[in-house]
Amino acid sequence: MDLGLQNKIALVAASSRGLGKAAAWTLAQEGCDVVITARGQEALDRTADEIRAATGRQVLAVPADVSVLTDIERLTDAAIATFGQVDILVNNAGGPRPGVFTDMEDEDWLAAIDLNLMSTIRLTERLLPGMRQRGWGRIINITSVSVKQPLPNLILSNTARAGVVAMAKTLAGQVAAEGITVNNVCPGYMLTDRVRGIAETRADQEDRPAQSIIEEMAQGIPARRVGQPEELAALIAFLASQRAAYITGTTIQCDGGLVKSLL
Ligand code: NAD
Repeated sequence: MDLGLQNKIALVAASSRGLGKAAAWTLAQEGCDVVITARGQEALDRTADEIRAATGRQVLAVPADVSVLTDIERLTDAAIATFGQVDILVNNAGGPRPGVFTDMEDEDWLAAIDLNLMSTIRLTERLLPGMRQRGWGRIINITSVSVKQPLPNLILSNTARAGVVAMAKTLAGQVAAEGITVNNVCPGYMLTDRVRGIAETRADQEDRPAQSIIEEMAQGIPARRVGQPEELAALIAFLASQRAAYITGTTIQCDGGLVKSLL
């Protein structure tokens, strides 16, 4: 299937590794030039080199913290100065700190909102006007299965991501007639460095191999395995494509059947 992504420009936030990196890589494989961003320059440059070498596409690497407004301004300015436009925006960030309601102070809530909700709003605010001018755009937010089934020890993530879904659904309706789609994707357990790190920490605490922790995670998933970042990236590339022009306002999980709700 030709996704019609040749020579589109995609900006993927939080993309030196993990789900963001896989999304940027897959979009570049499909013919996009990509803008990638993360806080640390070294890992970002390494990822940019890898994507260039594997795909032959242009990759602009801009160090930025997506929870900081001035960094977002610098990032979007650099993207437009280099490529003239951004057609596809993939919103992503790290996860806020775990914990329950009574663990959190005011500043924890505000930091989580800045990281996961305001980063999405601010990047969208800056890149939507160009999409509207050209009558074509794709906005895809990486959220979590927690937007369908909140996770007990992740109250900050549950709360901020629910805001992303509500914002996206409302915006999708507003811009649908202008050739712009807005969708959310919800990863379940995907084997990124973050999930590997969680498994390694538990493995150390429990004095057993990390692989046995990952196998245990898999037992709770109907597919009986954790996902690969490339599997979420394939969904993102499809939603970014010309073929997905009639899909908007959706929230789609990629989770091996983990979510138990009907919708
Ligand atoms: P990861 O730690 O492997 O990668 C995160 C990327 O984001 C890195 O490139 C990091 O440098 C960058 N980053 C983090 N904070 C940033 C910031 N403030 N500004 C700019 N860049 C930043 O994580 P991942 O597993 O790819 O997860 C990505 C997102 O998806 C997270 O919000 C995570 O909570 C969520 N998620 C992941 C899974 C999973 O199974 N991997 C499941 C559900 C939700």
